[in-house]
Amino acid sequence: MGSRFEITVTASDQSKAEEYIGLAVNEITRIEKLISSWDPSTQTSQINRNAGIKPVKVSPELYNLIDRALKISEITDGAFDISYASMDKIWKFDGSMTKMPSEDEIKESVSKVGYQNIILNPADTSVFLKKQGMKIGFGAIGKGYAADQAKKLLMKEGVEAGIINASGDMNTWGTKPNGEAWKIAITNPMNKEHAFALLPIENRAVVTSGDYEKFVNFNGIRYSHIINPKTGYPATGIISSTVFAPKAELADALATSVFVMGIDAGIDRINQLPGVECIIVDEEGKVHTSNNIKLEAL
Ligand code: ADP
Ligand code: MG
Repeated sequence: MGSRFEITVTASDQSKAEEYIGLAVNEITRIEKLISSWDPSTQTSQINRNAGIKPVKVSPELYNLIDRALKISEITDGAFDISYASMDKIWKFDGSMTKMPSEDEIKESVSKVGYQNIILNPADTSVFLKKQGMKIGFGAIGKGYAADQAKKLLMKEGVEAGIINASGDMNTWGTKPNGEAWKIAITNPMNKEHAFALLPIENRAVVTSGDYEKFVNFNGIRYSHIINPKTGYPATGIISSTVFAPKAELADALATSVFVMGIDAGIDRINQLPGVECIIVDEEGKVHTSNNIKLEAL
């Protein structure tokens, strides 16, 4: 998935723990084989190849993931959109871009974006992308989904406590062996050495969006790797957004959405969702939080 997973479990002995970790790794690999849009052999790539041509019957698992992604598009007013992927061709955040894409290129790329054009048919679990050149990708939700599934599998196997860490996206269950809650430290991206909060997470997920290596600078403006599906321009103004939610999938998708929605609209929406909280760091390093976050200064 292009990210590093770290798996922590409690077990009676080392070999049992390793066996559990092996199960989690297999599960994550299995999911990658379903949702990757880079690997041409996945069902997701099949959907993309048939954009504007025909519906593709997929497994109920992939169908349901897409269905939930569409619901997140609705609750975020389209800030979150898995059909963002056609814009990936003009914005590159690996240092290879030398100039801004032209207005025309941006217009053209955004014309293929729109979750309303992802047509689901429950009768045969098929997915149809209405427009030719349309493309879906799970870059903003797949890691969270994989983490949730790995956690679910290990809980079913009887593992009492653990942490799935997908490049900083944390999903926990149970407690530390001494009975204390797992705690996560939140650092300010402007000063990574110094954590500004230490928060307990009990059977929940915490996901941060904002990759400090993935951005481009043009005319003094810092463009993030998260793209606004309405304008075709990358989101600006926010450096990182951290979302707490019962599931990593939702936390992952919402952390990405907040970038696009901006500080005020983002916090406002998060405050309306039960059991969901967020912490945003803006470009000046200033911290903004949703209603129920009590920062415990270190
Ligand atoms: P990160 O952990 O890399 O900060 P995110 O979970 O925020 O990642 O996801 C960012 C990725 O999501 C982008 O690299 C891209 O693949 C995809 N993406 C970009 N913009 C959007 C969007 N508006 N809606 C859904 N996915 C997006
Ligand atoms: Mg995300």
